[in-house]
Amino acid sequence: MTTEKLYSYYLKSRLISTDTRNISNGCIFFALKGDNFNANEFANQALEKGASFVVIDEAEFALNEYCLLVDDVLSTLQDLARYHRKQLNIPVIGLTGSNGKTTSKELVNAVLAERYKTFATFGNLNNHIGVPLSILSINDNVEIAVIEMGANHQKEIELLCTIAQPTHGIITNVGMAHLDGFGGFEGVKKGKAELYAYIKETQGYAFINRDNPNLMEMSQTAGLNKLIFYGTENGNTIKGTLKSSDPFIEVDWTNHDVSSSVKTNLTGSYNFENILAAICIGDFFDLNPEEINGGLSNYQPKNNRSQLSKTEKNTVICDFYNANPSSMTAALNNISVLTADKKTAILGDMFELGPESATQHQLIAKQANESGLNDLIFIGKHFYAFKDQFKGIFFETPAEASLYLQENGIEDNLVLLKGSRGMKLESLLQFL
Ligand code: ATP
Ligand code: MG
Repeated sequence: MTTEKLYSYYLKSRLISTDTRNISNGCIFFALKGDNFNANEFANQALEKGASFVVIDEAEFALNEYCLLVDDVLSTLQDLARYHRKQLNIPVIGLTGSNGKTTSKELVNAVLAERYKTFATFGNLNNHIGVPLSILSINDNVEIAVIEMGANHQKEIELLCTIAQPTHGIITNVGMAHLDGFGGFEGVKKGKAELYAYIKETQGYAFINRDNPNLMEMSQTAGLNKLIFYGTENGNTIKGTLKSSDPFIEVDWTNHDVSSSVKTNLTGSYNFENILAAICIGDFFDLNPEEINGGLSNYQPKNNRSQLSKTEKNTVICDFYNANPSSMTAALNNISVLTADKKTAILGDMFELGPESATQHQLIAKQANESGLNDLIFIGKHFYAFKDQFKGIFFETPAEASLYLQENGIEDNLVLLKGSRGMKLESLLQFL
């Protein structure tokens, strides 16, 4: 099966599925394998549910001519996406970083959509499967695309770049995330810099936060020369100042010609750099300040990242989509400067930290203790190990914390709720 042939099938419906619970009529079903499943086994079911073809890599499941047998389903999916990307003659902004990818992607998209027909990665579909699926969702009307690229080990961003083929690149930041897979902080820098290397090789543009010494160093190492800078200093294409962050972020900014100001619905001063990135990209693509500010001020976070929600009893900073040491530090810094009579942080374990895990949990517990908050609740076995060293209430599991919250309600507090995805801290929101 050549990629060209498969592409001709794809063009008939432009629908792809990798999940038999989600089959649209006429789609091509890619029978991927995971740790605990082998979708080759569901190929027949996919056809029965309306798939026009199934792409499989185990001959025993090839029942009829609609079963397309390939060497490897995943790489076939990636090749198809590469091929589709090549047909699309549009700018693609490739976006990676340790923290703030999805938020920045949403903001960039909100801004660009004021002028262009845009496509942006759905949700968080940012890995070796999500990126090809995102690319294959771009139709011919789209004028510009924003593709989130995530990674937890070396060479992953390099691979994703060959699929998304970004013409423009941005690394939001590099931090203490996925330390295990990357091999420490230097490994994170190396892995993320694969985007800069691709941009350099293909003569693309990179948007760089000049306030971030790591990004500056990485861009120099990569030898990038088409650079557009944003940051707080004069001399940047976009210069911004954080005007207010209590509780929502307001930014003053200038692009040399005009000065402007924007109020957003995001909480968390760390979003300042995400907002500046979106301004910079909007400005680069010729949007005027009204359009840029319009996109930013109309954006409402609904994805449990930097979302300030009023519950019956409290105001909750819903930031429980994920957590790592960098974003925990940023979130604690943020709550400690917000105005509120009483403040509580409910912090869940951070995963994927490898040998640094214990130290990083200890550091966050220490920072939380020094943040001047009224109450602290720590959840998870990593934090629990420090229960005798720090103040706070410690639980080994979210279920135990949930019982506690039901019995000892928190009221009239500003509450930060944050932990790794696997901690599923959203289960506690109903008790706040
Ligand atoms: P993932 O790796 O899950 O895709 P992401 O990089 O897409 O994460 P977001 O989902 O945008 O990041 O944000 C996750 C959390 O990271 C936010 O809720 C916030 O706590 C924190 N965060 C967002 N932007 C920044 C930033 N610029 N610096 C530090 N922390 C940030
Ligand atoms: Mg994300």
